[in-house]
Amino acid sequence: MRSARIMTRKSLLVGSGLGLLALITGCSKPAAGAAGPSPSTSAAPHAWSYDGAEGPEHWGALSSDFGSCSSGTAQSPIDVGGGSGLTPVPLALAYAASVGEMTDNGHTTELRALTAQGITVGGKQYAFKQMHFHAPSEHTLDGVRFEAEFHFVHQADDGGLAVVGILAAVGAANAAWAPFTDGVPAAASGQKVAAGVVDFPALFPASLDHFAYDGSLTTPPCSEGVRWLLLETPVELGAGQLATLRAAHAGNSRPVQLLNGRDVVVVDQ
Ligand SMILES: [Zn+2]
Repeated sequence: MRSARIMTRKSLLVGSGLGLLALITGCSKPAAGAAGPSPSTSAAPHAWSYDGAEGPEHWGALSSDFGSCSSGTAQSPIDVGGGSGLTPVPLALAYAASVGEMTDNGHTTELRALTAQGITVGGKQYAFKQMHFHAPSEHTLDGVRFEAEFHFVHQADDGGLAVVGILAAVGAANAAWAPFTDGVPAAASGQKVAAGVVDFPALFPASLDHFAYDGSLTTPPCSEGVRWLLLETPVELGAGQLATLRAAHAGNSRPVQLLNGRDVVVVDQ
């Protein structure tokens, strides 16, 4: 456990995120069109990837919609370690077991819950939209990259986005995560997968201590105004479970971005 460390910081904003969530899922490949919310923009999705001519260093030039990927100054992911900031704002989970459904958007596998879930951050409510993974992790902890990272994407009524990131290390097989990892291969083949009952609270580590900072989507269009909450404690998944993730989407991780003077708040709770 650490005590809260204080550094100066800009506001832990949650920008007006209207449309951001749609953009998150706007890269869905046409074959997966039956899944998830429809993009609110009329722009056709632009191809992007994690290497080569459409890789992260080129995202900003691939489309006029992706400009933030190269010109943004509050991008994600970042390396976290030391903390700073104003008064830590506590995170509370409002999750329960729910039937889950999985789809693949061509870049990752997404899990949705069929009943309402969410979080509160300093009393503000955010509804859970979808969870997906990156392998290896996108955020690094004191320079250390983990085997995988899960992103629980939430949206408030005002459109603001809050993403809870959970790092994953190799360890014992994790039964709570099995409904997701078991469904990844079928989803990757283009099917909508019924994940059965997912014990959502059990997907989280015991401690909700986390790093909070203002960042962006880690995929095009890299929109900023995203409240990030990266949990300090990783979850453990079995080697086979992690291999399943990599088999579907290996290397779907954006490199760490410059902090550019942003503050990172350590929230111990
Ligand atoms: Zn993500």
